[in-house]
Amino acid sequence: MPTARGRHFLQIPGPTNVPDRILRAIDRATIDHRGPEFGAMAREIFAEIGQIFGTSGAVVIYPSSGTGAWEAALVNTCEPGDRVLMAETGWFATLWCEVARRLGLNPELLPGDWRHGVDPAEIEAHLAADRSHSIRAVCVVHNETSTGVASRVAEVRKAIDRAGHPALLMVDTISSLASIDYRHDEWGVDVTVAGSQKGLMLPPGLGFNAVGEKALRRSETSRFPRSYWDWRAMIAANAGGYFPYTPATNLLYGLREAIRMLLEEGMEEVFARHDRLAEATRRAVRAWGLEIVCAEPREYSNSLTAVMLPEGHDADAFRKVTLERFNTSLGNGLGKLQGRAFRIGHLGDFNEPMLAGTLASVEMGLAAAGVPHRKGGVDAALDYLAGNTRSPG
Ligand SMILES: *Cc1c(COP(=O)(O)O)cnc(C)c1O
Repeated sequence: MPTARGRHFLQIPGPTNVPDRILRAIDRATIDHRGPEFGAMAREIFAEIGQIFGTSGAVVIYPSSGTGAWEAALVNTCEPGDRVLMAETGWFATLWCEVARRLGLNPELLPGDWRHGVDPAEIEAHLAADRSHSIRAVCVVHNETSTGVASRVAEVRKAIDRAGHPALLMVDTISSLASIDYRHDEWGVDVTVAGSQKGLMLPPGLGFNAVGEKALRRSETSRFPRSYWDWRAMIAANAGGYFPYTPATNLLYGLREAIRMLLEEGMEEVFARHDRLAEATRRAVRAWGLEIVCAEPREYSNSLTAVMLPEGHDADAFRKVTLERFNTSLGNGLGKLQGRAFRIGHLGDFNEPMLAGTLASVEMGLAAAGVPHRKGGVDAALDYLAGNTRSPG
């Protein structure tokens, strides 16, 4: 591969571009994680982080990937053999189900077509049929990163309540937190699972559980063996600004900066910015004459757009062209979409000119790879953005 010049366009749906402010915050000496300077920093993080999740409750931070935070949510609230209800929205929902299975839980994965979100009515019907209340939890992925479909979490909560069922609601927001409107408390979520490397604009390496009162009570009586993931030891130590084992100190410097940046911008504007960049992307895809994987407009993801290639064209060959010729990384198709779809990440530290560059790479790549399409996708996006962009600052 020839030496690439200029900025690399990392437009996969996570890890996302880490802004310079965060890189500089991380680039500092690692300090004593039991000393006073660390405690003051961690207390600031714990005081502010709830605003990102929309909660006044506890937020537990692990040195882990998002997968660890999935496991933590399950081992703190469930026991081996417990039934959990999940919905096959795509690759990530299927993987979370696999984690539950390996832990010895008894998950039921409601089949899906990978083009729609969770169906609240189906959840309600399943819970209503569970008269003995043996289902311990409903686990849903808010933003299915493999398909670009965002499920309607508030409606899933209402469905659980209509069924009068005590199951916990656990939500994976790994690719929606700080990108798509999300409200842990207001929507009655019991456990929110998140990761650092997507909307939070950090490198990979932190996993999060926002924990509601009901889930916390459940964890007190759960007999699932757990140690590293145990909320109780974490929450007890966090109260003073400390951790029961060595935390990812430098990533926490970055997290403090990320929280400051998000609150300076304002969560409403963060969501609005993702909304307009996502809408511009969808207009480009339609202008090219390509198909968006998400079949339901009210479930469009504002974090990423997954795009089908026409029959007979290999999405990975197309992505190879955008990478090698235009220094742009696009997301691959996952699971059954491998080779058939590609994904444009438009989340995190991202703005209009970055999107314009990304879409230009896609349009050039389609032409260079010989994928049939119409011209004008970039123009359609720019026209939309010109009418919708707020002036910076
Ligand atoms: C990225 C992602 C994960 C996996 O997180 P890791 O940090 O790779 O373990 C899980 N769920 C969703 C929705 C994701 O986007």
